[in-house]
Amino acid sequence: MGIIEKMRLDGKAAFVTGGARGIGKQIAVALAEAGSDVAIVDVDIEEAQKTASDIAQRNGRKTIAIKTDVTKPEEVAAMMKEIQDTFGKLDAAFCNAGICMNVPCEEMTYEQWKKVIDINLSGVFLTAQAAAKQMVKQGYGSIINTASMSAHIVNVPQPQCSYNASKAGVIQLTKSMAIELAKRGVRVNCISPGYIGTELTLNSPSLKPLIEQWNAMAPMGRMGKPEELQSIAVYLAGDTSSFTTGSDFIIDGAFTCF
Ligand code: NDP
Repeated sequence: MGIIEKMRLDGKAAFVTGGARGIGKQIAVALAEAGSDVAIVDVDIEEAQKTASDIAQRNGRKTIAIKTDVTKPEEVAAMMKEIQDTFGKLDAAFCNAGICMNVPCEEMTYEQWKKVIDINLSGVFLTAQAAAKQMVKQGYGSIINTASMSAHIVNVPQPQCSYNASKAGVIQLTKSMAIELAKRGVRVNCISPGYIGTELTLNSPSLKPLIEQWNAMAPMGRMGKPEELQSIAVYLAGDTSSFTTGSDFIIDGAFTCF
C-alpha cells in the first residue's frame, strides 16, 4: 500500500469541536474527504447542522451535529455518549473550539479572563479528557488540540493576555496528556496556527482593522486559509503519525521565526 492510501481514514470516526465553521469546519471536511465519519460539535447547532449535511452530501460519510458547550462537563459527557451510540468508537478527537477577547490586561475583568480560559483551556481539557477515557478503553486513538502561535509569541498590537495564556496552557496540557497516555495507545498532539482568515479574525470588530498590519509583519505577506490546515489534520488523525505524540505543529508561514 502506498503512503497516500495509508493516510486515508476509511472506517474511522472523529469529532471536531468548534466544527460548525472556520478552522474546525475545514478540518471536518478534510477528515470526511479522507474517509472518516465525523461529529460536528458546536454551540451553534444550526450552523453545525448545515456543515454536517454539506459534508454528508459531498462525501457520503456518516456525519452528525451535536450541540455542546465545551465548558459544561455534563454536555461533554452527553456528546461522548452520542458519539459512542452513533459510531461505536472514536479514532480521532479535535478539541478546537476557542474564542479571542481583546482587552488591556489592567482593564480585563475577572469574568472576561475566566470566559477565555474556560473555553480555550478548560474546554480543551474536558473534551480531550472525555476522548481519552474512551480511547484508553479501546487501546487506540489520536487527540489533536488547537493551540496557536499566540502560545509562542505575544501578538501585537492587540491586547489579548488571556488568549495567549490559554493557548500556552493548551500546549503544556497536550504534552502532559501525551506522556500519561503514551503506553496506552493514545497519542496527543496540538497545532499552533498563525493568523488564519475565519470569522474570528475577518469579522471581529477589534481584529479586522489590524489585518493590514499583520500582513505587513508576515514573512509571506498574508494570512493563512483554514484549508491550509487540512493536511496536518488528516496526518495526525491517521495511522501514519503512529510515532508522533506530544508534538506541537506551528503552521504560521514563518510568522514566529523572528
Ligand atoms: P471561529 O470563531 O470561526 O469558530 C469557532 C467555533 O467554535 C464557532 O462555531 C463557535 O460558535 C464555536 N464555539 C465557541 N465557543 C464554544 C463553546 N463553548 N463550545 C463549543 N463551541 C464553541 O474560530 P476559528 O475557526 O478561527 O478558530 C478555531 C480555533 O483555532 C480556536 O481555538 C482559535 O483560538 C484557534 N486559532 C485561530 C486562529 C485564527 O487566526 N483564526 C489562529 C490560531 C488559533 P459561536 O460562534 O456560536 O460562538
